[in-house]
Amino acid sequence: MSRGVSEVPNLNDHYDVVIVGGGPAGLSVGLNLVRAHRRVLILDSNRPRHSATLVSHGFLTRDGVSPLELRALGRAEFEAYPSAEFHQGTVGSITAVDTAPDAPPLFAVTSRGVRGSADRDLTASVVVLASGLAETLPALPSIRAYYGTSLHSCIECDAFEKSEGALALIGTTPDLAERALLISQATDDLVVFTNGSPDAVTPAEEAGLASRGIRVERRALADVVGDRSGLTAVVLADGTEVPRDGGFVRPLWSVPLDFASSLPIERDGEGHVLVDERGATSVTGLFAAGDTTPPGPQQLIVAAGAGARVAASVNRYLLGPL
Ligand SMILES: Cc1cc2nc3c(=O)[nH]c(=O)nc-3n(C[C@H](O)[C@H](O)[C@H](O)COP(=O)(O)OP(=O)(O)OC[C@H]3O[C@@H](n4cnc5c(N)ncnc54)[C@H](O)[C@@H]3O)c2cc1C
Repeated sequence: MSRGVSEVPNLNDHYDVVIVGGGPAGLSVGLNLVRAHRRVLILDSNRPRHSATLVSHGFLTRDGVSPLELRALGRAEFEAYPSAEFHQGTVGSITAVDTAPDAPPLFAVTSRGVRGSADRDLTASVVVLASGLAETLPALPSIRAYYGTSLHSCIECDAFEKSEGALALIGTTPDLAERALLISQATDDLVVFTNGSPDAVTPAEEAGLASRGIRVERRALADVVGDRSGLTAVVLADGTEVPRDGGFVRPLWSVPLDFASSLPIERDGEGHVLVDERGATSVTGLFAAGDTTPPGPQQLIVAAGAGARVAASVNRYLLGPL
């Protein structure tokens, strides 16, 4: 029975849908598409964004679960379906295959094996980008040692556990004051560190924050320090130590998509993939979900929800016009 899938020469290496990334977005796309009888391959390089942390919060029915367990549960649910395939590999290229003028698009995908798994060369009628974000933390020598434990980036995910602490917010981007406001729900002892960046907090914002008891420290930073209990202070370039027990950083985010550079994908100023309400990109047959798309809340359940929505769009797209 035809389910609207295009005819291609080698069915062994052809998938209805290839999903780049096996995080909550990609797994959710995959689960919903195998349930629609689509032949789906998830290619995942096994570098989840939240690998720095041991506990994740806010995913309904899984609050407090380890991120690895959440992924394992999602992968097992996906792989329980006969048309599902999960492969550890890093996608190296996605290119458009020349097809007849009135034929639907076709993509060629190559991936390099991870941890001994095989390299793959295949084709797909649809590709879904669910490869997430890359983060650049503030350039302080010891910051990575505390990221995911004492220092976090997602306020919705981790502020509750920081309640009543002496907290820091470290960053250089213009959204710092807004983020400080959210963090102030958890504590009345917050210092915002702009690390010498003049644009991070405007004088008007600084006054507004001060009226709520939030101090802005504009001097350059040298490092963060701590002991076995976690972070204990933020160190200024002049050697002053500001005691803190934890807090938040605002990383710089980027969306690495070199592997799809031959495709004319429209992106926003920060590199997120622009999508319409169906999750369709500017390239016919190419969809995107999760943290690769312009930010709303960057949360597991939001990425998974976006994945379910994109799956419905992809399935309808593959059925073709009436
Ligand atoms: C430290 C930290 C803690 C967090 N804690 C929480 C929390 O408690 N609760 C919460 O809701 N959210 C939390 N988040 C946010 C959450 O992790 C993200 O919003 C979510 O993971 C986004 O899902 P995604 O599927 O879009 O991307 P990801 O989960 O990042 O998955 C993307 C996947 O794509 C793969 N990939 C990338 N490039 C390629 C390629 N070329 N080929 C193949 N695969 C590729 C990666 O290996 C990765 O597995 C946290 C984030 C961080 C950084």
